[in-house]
Amino acid sequence: AGGDEVAVVDRPVATADGRHVEVVANVGGAADVDRAVERGSDGVGLFRSEFLFQNREEPPDEDEQYEAYREAASAFPDGRVVVRTLDVGGDKPLPYLDAPEETDPFLGVRGIRRSLGPDAALFDTQLRALCRAAADADGDLAVMFPMVATVEELETALDRLHAVAEDLTDEGVEHAVPETGVMIETPSAATLAGELGQRVSFLSIGTNDLTQYVMAASRENAAVAELNHPTHPGVLRSVERTVTAGHDAGARVAMCGEAAGDPRLAPLLVGLGIDEFSVSPPTVPRVKTRIESVDAATAERLAERALAAETRGAVERLLDGDGDEE
Ligand code: PEP
Ligand code: MG
Repeated sequence: AGGDEVAVVDRPVATADGRHVEVVANVGGAADVDRAVERGSDGVGLFRSEFLFQNREEPPDEDEQYEAYREAASAFPDGRVVVRTLDVGGDKPLPYLDAPEETDPFLGVRGIRRSLGPDAALFDTQLRALCRAAADADGDLAVMFPMVATVEELETALDRLHAVAEDLTDEGVEHAVPETGVMIETPSAATLAGELGQRVSFLSIGTNDLTQYVMAASRENAAVAELNHPTHPGVLRSVERTVTAGHDAGARVAMCGEAAGDPRLAPLLVGLGIDEFSVSPPTVPRVKTRIESVDAATAERLAERALAAETRGAVERLLDGDGDEE
């Protein structure tokens, strides 16, 4: 309800001093696309494709996925819809995919690891559907890969994308290779942001997982909730490293974890150089409004001071506007 109090901003926004910042939506169900349009989103920064696979007996086939991706992208004729490939394992099991019992599912075969291993056939089907939808949709379609930890994983995933595109060419099926991106959710990916960013158009920081892995504090365990927070210096510096290395490599850098939707963090995130905020549909108007009030130059100074802070408490005091002035 909170987000509804703010008027919908039905246009792209910029900071008070003119830096364009995209505000797009996270989509986790069919109705979310409509909600995102209603709330004035510029596009979709995270289409959690898991929802197409959940609450059913078997996975959706290529045609069903093609329709879903084409429809979502067509809802934003002037924008972009970023579809994340299937991210199961960890907190997101799928009953009909046989997965071995793991003692540490969050450190096990999840996300891209499944897609390059036991779910390789499903992965190819999804990539085929995405390539076909990319050719036929009104808006732009992009694909991104979850839980990447190594350059080899990304290269193998990109190889699969190009292999299915070649198959489609051989079959005479209309298609286009969508723009590609990587989620930055593991400390390794944050550290390798430059190498990853050279191989794709964009990076998207998933602060939900990145925070739990950087802090070694579960996103689901209330007993460590204080540690599981993106304003800890260890997380902020990982974000900073990702943005700087990503930009140096020529990649756009988005954020699609929950931190992106916290209006209190918006000045800090703008100051760190985040190009695109992907937030829950109800939050879009509030984040757009907040960004329009931010002065990017001031935000950069705030970010510099936050990066120098040694504790979460010091970062929080800066955010509340009562950090010590130097
Ligand atoms: C994240 O990890 O920040 C993210 C956006 O992905 P999910 O919450 O779906 O794991
Ligand atoms: Mg995640």
